[in-house]
Amino acid sequence: MSEKLYEYKTEEDWFVAKWGVAGPSIHSFVDYPKTMYDNLNHILLGEESSVAYDLFVIKLSSNLALVQFILDMLNQEQGRQLTLTSFKGLMVISEQDKILWIQPAKSTVKLSELLAGETRGLDSNLLIATRNEGKTKEFRDLFAPLGIAVQNLNDYPDLPEVAETGMTFEENARLKAETIANLTGQMVLADDSGLKVDLLGGLPGVWSARFAGQGADDQANNAKLLHELAVITDLKRRSAQFHTTLVVAVPERDSLVVSAEWEGYIAFGPKGENGFGYDPIFLVGETGQTAAQLSATEKNQQSHRGQAVKKLMEVFPKWQLTL
Ligand code: IMP
Repeated sequence: MSEKLYEYKTEEDWFVAKWGVAGPSIHSFVDYPKTMYDNLNHILLGEESSVAYDLFVIKLSSNLALVQFILDMLNQEQGRQLTLTSFKGLMVISEQDKILWIQPAKSTVKLSELLAGETRGLDSNLLIATRNEGKTKEFRDLFAPLGIAVQNLNDYPDLPEVAETGMTFEENARLKAETIANLTGQMVLADDSGLKVDLLGGLPGVWSARFAGQGADDQANNAKLLHELAVITDLKRRSAQFHTTLVVAVPERDSLVVSAEWEGYIAFGPKGENGFGYDPIFLVGETGQTAAQLSATEKNQQSHRGQAVKKLMEVFPKWQLTL
């Protein structure tokens, strides 16, 4: 193994290194952050490597210069692709886009300065806590005029499913929004909705999707609800509301919560082909029409979800200013 000399010299910095010796070792004639360079060598070269460098630091004004000098040597001698990026006072070493090491370049890098601007950046992206592309499109259209780009959980395949273990719509929506906001560091919107039947004390409520049992389909849920109310022949006593709660969460901030309800009655049998869930048996207000007899646009204009989104749009800009 032949030995090779490297040198970097400016007015303020002067480093000389010999490659091809056991090491790495650094000999400095000036004060230098030894622990930081020990850690850097450990990350880049592992435990005592058989071939490395002997480095003499004669003058040192910039850690960036010295770190770059070491990386250049490793790239040349070991065919590595180490890159040094300086970002807001931090030194970031990466290799093929993988971050290997992050350190402040000076002891004066402040966390508040590092985060300045970043938290405001949170308000230009919104992650919807759903894998449903239909729901996502609705929200994307609504947030586009505010300059907010919308993503959904399909963009984050590794995130865990959040179990809806709450006893209220708000608890469930908060669970989803706040858990995912904390996991991703993003602004997250979650919704939870369902049908509340007055005579059943608000059931099926948060259990709307699984009223007839875990994995039940819409038809089974509707059949169960019609069965529960079978003896109630007076329509007025079959009153119900669709409910939606929306929660927008940002890590370590108070969440924004809005709710809305859509009043109606449970029909005596299914009618209509549109919509989903309980729509075929939900009579809208006093109209005598079920939600499944409305077009998508008609439903969105008056539904619990449509109303909740309208409320959100009213309060969101003010809340956004508090971020
Ligand atoms: P999610 O929490 O919004 O996914 O809704 C839970 C359940 O509530 C759904 O599976 C439906 O059974 C019911 N639901 C919520 N919104 C509607 C609606 O607009 N029409 C009919 N059923 C709904």
